[in-house]
This record gives sequence, C-alpha cells and structure tokens, in this order.
Amino acid sequence: MICPRCGGGTCVLPAGAVLERVPFMYAACRSCVPDPVVSKQAPFDHLDPTLRDLDDGAMRCAECGKRHLDVAIAHVLGILVREGLRGQRANLFDVGTPMIAVGYPIPFPPRLGRNTLILVMDSIDRTTAEMITAEVSEVKGVIQRKGRPDEPIGILDTGNSPHTYNLLAGCDVRADIVSSAVGELCIYKTQSDTHIEFARSESGKIAVLESLYYQRKLGGAVVDACCGAGTLGLLSVLAGAREVILNDAFLPAVKNTLTNISANADLLGLDSEPEIHADPSELPQVACAPTLVATARGSCAVSVYHSDLADLAAVVDRCDLCLIDAFIGVSTDRFVQAWKERAKMVVTI
Ligand SMILES: [Zn+2]
Ligand SMILES: [Zn+2]
Repeated sequence: MICPRCGGGTCVLPAGAVLERVPFMYAACRSCVPDPVVSKQAPFDHLDPTLRDLDDGAMRCAECGKRHLDVAIAHVLGILVREGLRGQRANLFDVGTPMIAVGYPIPFPPRLGRNTLILVMDSIDRTTAEMITAEVSEVKGVIQRKGRPDEPIGILDTGNSPHTYNLLAGCDVRADIVSSAVGELCIYKTQSDTHIEFARSESGKIAVLESLYYQRKLGGAVVDACCGAGTLGLLSVLAGAREVILNDAFLPAVKNTLTNISANADLLGLDSEPEIHADPSELPQVACAPTLVATARGSCAVSVYHSDLADLAAVVDRCDLCLIDAFIGVSTDRFVQAWKERAKMVVTI
C-alpha cells in the first residue's frame, strides 16, 4: 500500500502481516548485547562518554541491526546539544515523547530497527529535525508539539478551527495494534493530526464497546459518529454489525479511516478497496454539508461520511446504535439531541 503521507511503500502494510511480525519487532536477538545501563535522569554531561558521542553504527547489533531505545534517544540528545537546542544539563526525558511506529504493549524496553521511532518534541526546528532523521536511522519522523501538552489534536467541534502538530521531517504515519474481545486490528494514523491516545483512555473505550458486544447491541446498524481513525466502527464490523457508518467532521480522520479499511480489509472481511464517492483531496478540512466519501462491501455494509455529527443525523434514516466519542470537555447535548430520534440507543464514550 502507498503511504498517504510520504508516498513510500513500507509505512502501511496489510494488518495481517503486521500482526504476524509485531511480537518480534522490538525484541532483542540472540546476538544483541544486554541492555545498556543508561540513567534517564542523568544530565548529558554525566552520561557515559560513549553515549555522548554516538554515530549511527555505534552500539547497534551487527546481527539484527537494532539498538536499544535509550541509545537511540541519547544519539538524538547528542545532536540537540551539538546544535544548541538543549544544554549540557538536559537528560533523555528532555528530548521529547518517543512513539514507536507500531504501538503494541511490550513488557520490555524496545530494541529499534530502521524507521521505527517517531518523536514528538517541544523545542525543535526544521533544520535540526531533518538532521535527526538523516543521522539517526531509527527515527522515522519528527513532530513539533504546538499548544499546551494536554490540548487535544483535531477539532473540538465544527465551530472550532483544528489544532494540529507540525510534521517537520520524515513521515508521521504510525499504527497502534488494537486488541479486544472481538479481535485485533492495526489502526494507522497520521500522528501529527491525530489525537495522541494514551493506552488507558483507549482501553476504556474498547471496554465500552466490548460491553455492548456482550449485551448483543452491535449486531444491527451502528454509527461511529466521531470515528477518528475508525477504531470503534471497525471493531463493530469485527463484532458482526450488519451495517456500520463511520463519520468524522475532521478530514484527516476520514482519510485515516479509509486507510484503515484498506489495511484491515482481510481481517474485516471487506473488499480491499473501498468505493470512493467523493475525492477526499477536494473536501474541506472541517466538514460543511454531510458528504458520503466511500463505501465498502463484504461481511458488512460500511459507509464513510465527512460531516458534522448533528448534521449527519439528517441523512441517516435509522440506526440501532450511535456511538459518540467526543473529546473530554465537549458538551455532547447537541449531538445526543440530534440522534435521539434516529437511533434506538445513543452511547457517549
Ligand atoms: Zn510514510
Ligand atoms: Zn540483535
């Protein structure tokens, strides 16, 4: 599959292939040296001299080509100090937030191969970001954080303008493996314009969906009204829904949903290429009138809309269940009101 961000052929792989590989993706091989002792709180000038002067080959396993996460981060810190963006007192935590390219719960610190790390950083400029992706082969992309750390990425409501981070270098497409009682999916996202979901809040949402599944509420027509990258709607397909409508008012979310339908088509029992009804490149960032973007057929009738979710209620006849997963702090009254007549059941998550 072609990467929607960088056009490369290795960023988006079919979900089945990723699920097969992911248990070994971050593990040490038999030739890897034991974990290095790196204090994350130690200032740069107190780190072991070998960690202060790394090149891309240093401390890398000759057999599997991976390095320990801390070594890759120390390499990045060395570049930041060299370029004057961090002082000698900065430590590994001051580099930024590391996100692995395929998020998967691993009980050990990851060993990283080529293009497996995306960094979300505060004090960073484009030139240095490009140096980092060029010099540190683990780093796939560098994202600059904007706004407060807790400010969600995306749109709160169609009345607000979108808040996104800045992709400064490389590619920001990464995936999270979603495990649930109804099955596993590989959910891709363009991370600079997708809210960073922490495992706890994500698993809370999945628990709500699992509970609906056990109550046999997912068999009919399900609307995932603020679908983001499509996680809950596509899990509903896995759970055996007859029809699933995925919708988001924010265009990058709609595009990620289309990627995820294609990448997970085998697992979902859907035709691999959704039928496109409206070219996403011609749609506005934030939805105006409700637009049917794509449909997919197979085990379930899937449609993808780009719409304000209250407006969507006007074009969807009836549904059995409407899931509303709005950002924390956004009042869902207007949405619930709009869907009360259309849906047998409205669940806000
Ligand atoms: Zn890419
Ligand atoms: Zn190795």
